[in-house]
Amino acid sequence: MILTRRNFLASASAALASPAFGAGTRKPNIVFILCDDLGYGDLHTYGSQIPTPNLDRMASDGIRFTNFCSADCVCSPSRAALLTGRYPTRVGVPRVLFPKDKGGLNRDETTMADMLKAQGYKTMCIGKWHLGRPVEYLPTSRGFDEYFGIPYSNDMTPRVLMHNTAVIEEPAKLETLTARYTEHAVRFINESKGGPFFLYMPHTFPHIPLAASERFRGKSGQGLYGDVVEEIDWSVGEVLRALKANNLDGNTLVMFSSDNGPWYQGSPGRLRGRKGSTYEGGIREPFIARWNGHIPKGKVTGALASMMDIFPTVASLCGGALPSKPLDGVNIWPLLNGEKASVEHSALLYFYGWDLQCARLDKWKLHIARHNSPTYVPPPPGGQHSYLLPHPELYNIDDDPDESYDMAPENPQIVAQIEAKVRELIPSFPREVQEAYADEEMRKADPSTPAGAWPRPAKVSEAPSAHHE
Ligand code: MG
Repeated sequence: MILTRRNFLASASAALASPAFGAGTRKPNIVFILCDDLGYGDLHTYGSQIPTPNLDRMASDGIRFTNFCSADCVCSPSRAALLTGRYPTRVGVPRVLFPKDKGGLNRDETTMADMLKAQGYKTMCIGKWHLGRPVEYLPTSRGFDEYFGIPYSNDMTPRVLMHNTAVIEEPAKLETLTARYTEHAVRFINESKGGPFFLYMPHTFPHIPLAASERFRGKSGQGLYGDVVEEIDWSVGEVLRALKANNLDGNTLVMFSSDNGPWYQGSPGRLRGRKGSTYEGGIREPFIARWNGHIPKGKVTGALASMMDIFPTVASLCGGALPSKPLDGVNIWPLLNGEKASVEHSALLYFYGWDLQCARLDKWKLHIARHNSPTYVPPPPGGQHSYLLPHPELYNIDDDPDESYDMAPENPQIVAQIEAKVRELIPSFPREVQEAYADEEMRKADPSTPAGAWPRPAKVSEAPSAHHE
């Protein structure tokens, strides 16, 4: 179901009917902490050896998801989807953005910060923005009162640290970033306790190049990557401590996740694939949410949810108006508060650039296309391309989370059902997506197409670079 104003109002009024959100009740503060390239298996509570005691505690005080999907397998598109509730291909961010890019998240999109600011929230963004470097695309032009951080990835040049629209350090000292981000977050919470406030904290790490402060180097027993993750866990602990010290635990929804799967290091757990891949390892993320008194403690859910669900969920909790453009996410508050075991989603689509590669309907995931090289090895001569698979592959994600056993031959009706759903959805996407999909359909129907996987002459120059994301 695509979320429109009309059906949103029905679900929002249901949520607002709860005594917790009744008239006169203070709107909840929203804190969203996002890691960069943290794998599904990189937290202790998701099976890692890296010590992450603060996130362990946050999970035991709230809910932990085992089936939470990003909307893309690389950095910028994933963030675009989080902040708009819409597929990145709809909002002008189908690929990773670079310092030289003149654009960013489409100016006519409403961000979560825009929506909350209109509700009287103080808004702060701390960390890696990655949705456009020109001043009209920076956080301070997209609904945030204040910004402190690096406007794109830490492997890009020039590596500038900014406060609002001013460069304050170049190159940014990487080993100090997590501590300085944390300092600004605690300061913002202390200054905003009169609320309501929205703190969006997209960390720079564990995206490479890795760097940890001296007090965390060599501490985790899991290499520098582990040290970096342990420092982020410390940072989460400091944010939670500041909330508690200001007596805000009962009035603040805190969420934690990552933008995409692990790249060269890091663990996707038992999932197949890494960053840049539309296998689950590139897409599925840790997701933990905590709100004392509103989210049951210690719950683990296998319900399917998407990064695009955060916008409508927050909107329903804060009484925010939905943008005029339809959202792709749905309100998952009934999952968070334990009221429901699942919520209905339309088919979840997995893109790489403009190319549709997979579609998921409940436990079934259909692979339609794939690229010719993973993003952690040098690209082959001619560059990275999206290839149409000779036959779609169907995986039962519940029974086979590492996508090892193709069930398409035994389930032609499921394949047909997902393909029909895709054909129904594609016309709602921008021209580039429609053209890419039409080209795939044409090749499938062409009897001269050779057997085996074949390359589609995709606009690869518009696709993310394999070694600079
Ligand atoms: Mg990333």
